[in-house]
Amino acid sequence: MAKTAIDQEITYRGIPASPGIAIGPIHVIARGFSAPEIYEISEQDIGHEQERFDEAVSATKKQLTDLQERLESLSGNADSEIFEAHVMLLEDKTLLERVEKAIATRQQNAEYAFYAVMQNFLEAMRRIPDPYLRERTADIEDVCQRVLRNFQVDEDPDYQPPEGKHILLAYDLSPSDTASMNRRHLLGFATEQGSVNSHTAILARSFGIPAVVGLGASVIQVTALTPALIDGYSGKLILNPTEETLGKYVAYMAKKEKQRTELDAKRDEATETIDGRKLTLSANIEFLEELHQVKRSGAKGVGLYRTEFLLLNGSEMPDESEQEQAYARVAKEVAPEMVIVRTLDAGGDKLPVEPLTEPEPNPFLGWRGIRVSLSRPAMFRDQLRAILRASQSGKLAIMFPLVSGLTELLQAKEVLKRCMDELDSEGVPFDPDIPVGVMIEVPSAAICADLLAPHSDFFSIGTNDLIQYTVAVDRVNPHVANLYKPTHPAVIRLIKQTVVAGDNCGIWTGVCGEMAGDIRLTPLLVGLGVEELSVSPKILPKVGQVIRSLDFSQCKDAAEEALRQTNSRGVMDITLSVARQRYPDLLD
Ligand code: PEP
Ligand code: MG
Repeated sequence: MAKTAIDQEITYRGIPASPGIAIGPIHVIARGFSAPEIYEISEQDIGHEQERFDEAVSATKKQLTDLQERLESLSGNADSEIFEAHVMLLEDKTLLERVEKAIATRQQNAEYAFYAVMQNFLEAMRRIPDPYLRERTADIEDVCQRVLRNFQVDEDPDYQPPEGKHILLAYDLSPSDTASMNRRHLLGFATEQGSVNSHTAILARSFGIPAVVGLGASVIQVTALTPALIDGYSGKLILNPTEETLGKYVAYMAKKEKQRTELDAKRDEATETIDGRKLTLSANIEFLEELHQVKRSGAKGVGLYRTEFLLLNGSEMPDESEQEQAYARVAKEVAPEMVIVRTLDAGGDKLPVEPLTEPEPNPFLGWRGIRVSLSRPAMFRDQLRAILRASQSGKLAIMFPLVSGLTELLQAKEVLKRCMDELDSEGVPFDPDIPVGVMIEVPSAAICADLLAPHSDFFSIGTNDLIQYTVAVDRVNPHVANLYKPTHPAVIRLIKQTVVAGDNCGIWTGVCGEMAGDIRLTPLLVGLGVEELSVSPKILPKVGQVIRSLDFSQCKDAAEEALRQTNSRGVMDITLSVARQRYPDLLD
């Protein structure tokens, strides 16, 4: 059969989610079923392709009817009705005609024509407000997958599922999909949905996997095995890159590698501005496997250990002694530096701590962070006791997420106090002076920072959430990603207010959200008086070099000017102009 590859270079633009370049074949996991290869067919082959389509549909109908019969004999009628509905879908004249028309008019191979028609149909169904109908899309995806499997592939000898390294293209990936991927074969990933501050993107950065998200629905057309390139710096997915494009990127990768080696060589230098302002530069981690990177990066401790990722090992938090082992290991490996263990922050876009009886309409405004811990006292107690026990193995601190006001902080501290009393009476040693900090990530906490400061040993600003709640923009929704502005005047005022409240009580304020690793914003954060930055170990040496290039008094002036701005662009221009003057080479 005559096959012509459709191989011109095409660039799709998305949001850069994790830096790096990946080059390799595409492996598609479309929603529920994978995209087949696409090729052009000649006019003479149209009839043959339509036969292949009929055969695949008939084979699927037969499988479904057999399944239905088997199920009927086992459990009666009710359960098997679902297969009847599946068979009916394959008898839907309009759908069948659409596929036949696509084969004839677009001269595409039958499996691709079928795939494209069904994707459009599913997209339309997903937009139906009726939740029952929307749910049925999963059934349709299942039928499509069956039909695609029933195409005879022996006429298509070039197609092999990618066993080797590949670039993954998906509708969306959850943080748990990302965490459990086979990273040996994964060069990078690109998704239709997603945004830069989702936990999926955060994980990609910690694993060092180049990623582009928020590409939009146009990537539905992308087919398996297409040669591709991901540019995680500027947010591009390039299909069929030409020799010229590849050459350009290979040179770019070499330049980045040289820069990385130079920065690594300086990782142990003090993180102090040229006029002597010292900053603590620490690492964010999610998994114990990242500990070796923390050491290698030159981090002064761990500023954020996201313990909710312990949930990935099972459906619930590990018990007290398993948690103690994990925390003790981190404490030991990072000693003598401090590790800030954040108590469970499940919910939102992360894993739920337990199956909810019904989905929350607004998970980010719902049951997450300290709210979950306070309403599950036994689980909270296990975690606090485990941290306290492990505090003997090194230097640990405790930090509470999503605190919205003083009442919650006092309640959490009360539980902590009870745990300390219990351990005391059991004769178990722990650090009685373990520092207790608060994440400032809800606007109400920033506004009331003066109330929280007398009861806290430090503040760590979670800008990912602080921005989302301040400007009311869902951090994972690509439709409003353009409104998610770290330099919004309201955000920088809240940061300033938090720093001042901390200063007045003699406690330090750090930033552990993604803003801390965005080197365009370092002059602004340093100028606002932040004393600690906690970032992914991968980018830590670069942030260290940025700090060493800055002049604190210039940053303070810039921050003052930024606080007088009326919009986010104005603030960004100010911080960027300092960055461009001080470290232009590090910015691209
Ligand atoms: C934040 O909100 O900025 C933060 C560091 O916490 P997380 O991203 O885990 O919600
Ligand atoms: Mg947060």
